[in-house]
Amino acid sequence: MYIYIELVNNMRQVSITIISSLFVFVCFGQPKANKDNVRVNASSINVTLLGTGTPQPVMERFGASTLVQAGSETLLFDAGRGCLQRLRQINVSYDKITGLFLTHLHSDHIVGLPDLWLTGWLVSRRLIPLNVFGPTGTEELMDHLRKAFAFDIRMRVEDDKRVENGSKFLVKEIEEGIIYEKNGVKVIAFLVDHYPVVPAFGYRIEYNGHSVVLSGDTRYSENLIKFAKGADLLIHEVAIAPDTLSKSDPQYNILMHHTTPEEAAKVFNEVQPKLAAYSHIVKIHGLLSDEDLRKRTEANYSGPFIVGEDLMSFSIGDTVSIKKWQVK
Ligand SMILES: [Zn+2]
Ligand SMILES: [Zn+2]
Repeated sequence: MYIYIELVNNMRQVSITIISSLFVFVCFGQPKANKDNVRVNASSINVTLLGTGTPQPVMERFGASTLVQAGSETLLFDAGRGCLQRLRQINVSYDKITGLFLTHLHSDHIVGLPDLWLTGWLVSRRLIPLNVFGPTGTEELMDHLRKAFAFDIRMRVEDDKRVENGSKFLVKEIEEGIIYEKNGVKVIAFLVDHYPVVPAFGYRIEYNGHSVVLSGDTRYSENLIKFAKGADLLIHEVAIAPDTLSKSDPQYNILMHHTTPEEAAKVFNEVQPKLAAYSHIVKIHGLLSDEDLRKRTEANYSGPFIVGEDLMSFSIGDTVSIKKWQVK
C-alpha cells in the first residue's frame, strides 16, 4: 500500500495520486519512476529518518536518529528520544542494530540510547554486545550508564533469565577517517563545526557504489563539503530564525551553533547531491514554518531537496527515491 507522487515542473511541484496507503514515493536522479522503485532493493542503501527534531519534546518530530540499512548491515546514527518507538513502527527489531554511531554527546542525540541498549536486550533478546561508536567521552558515558542501570541488569539476568552478554557493549571512540568496514559497507567519520562541542562528527556511508552523508549538528562546514562531494543523498541539519532575531536574544546562541537555510543552500550548491534533505530542524522561538524553510532554501538553491519528516525513507540506487511510512 503506498501513495505515488509524480514529479512535474522541474522536480519542485508534485502531484499526488493515491494508489494505496503504505508509502509516499518520489524519485530523484534520472527519473524512471515505475513500480520497480517500490521494491526494497538489496543493492540499495535505505535511509529512514526516525527523528527529525530537536531537544523539544514534540510528537511530530522525535529526537535525532537516522537508520541506514545497507546489505546485511543495519546502522543507527544517533539515538534521540523515541528512536525505539520509530523502529517498532517500521518493524525493525532492536537486536538487528549492528552498530550505533554517535555524532556528538548532546543529550538530544543520546537520550534514547539506554532504551535501545536495555530494551533491545530485554524485549528483542539481543544476545551479543551492542557496538557503539562515538567521540571522545563515549566510553565514560557508557561506563556511567552501566553503573546507573546495574540494578536492572542484575535483575534481568537473575530474574528474567536474559543472557548477560547481551547487556554489554563494545565502545570505540573515533577519529576522522574510515571507522567501520564490514560486509561491503564503509562508514567514514569527518569533523564538523559545532563548537564548543568538540569533537562533533558527520558521517558518510558507502555501499555498492552509492553513498549518503549525514551532517550531524554543525555550522556551515567546509570539511563537510569536502567529505560530502559526490554523495547521492545529503541529509543536513538546519536552523531557521526570523531576520529580526537580535544578538541579545537568549536563543541567538542556538542559531550560532547551527546552519541557516541560506548556508545550507550554499552547501547543497557545492556538493550537488542527487537529493538534499533537512533533518534536525531547529525553529528558533517556533516562529517560522516548513514553508518558510523551503522558500528560503529555494531562493538560493535550485536542485532537488526536501524538508525531512519523521519516517520519511530514502532508497539510494541508480536513483534516489522517497517513501513515507504511513503508520499509526
Ligand atoms: Zn548538538
Ligand atoms: Zn542536536
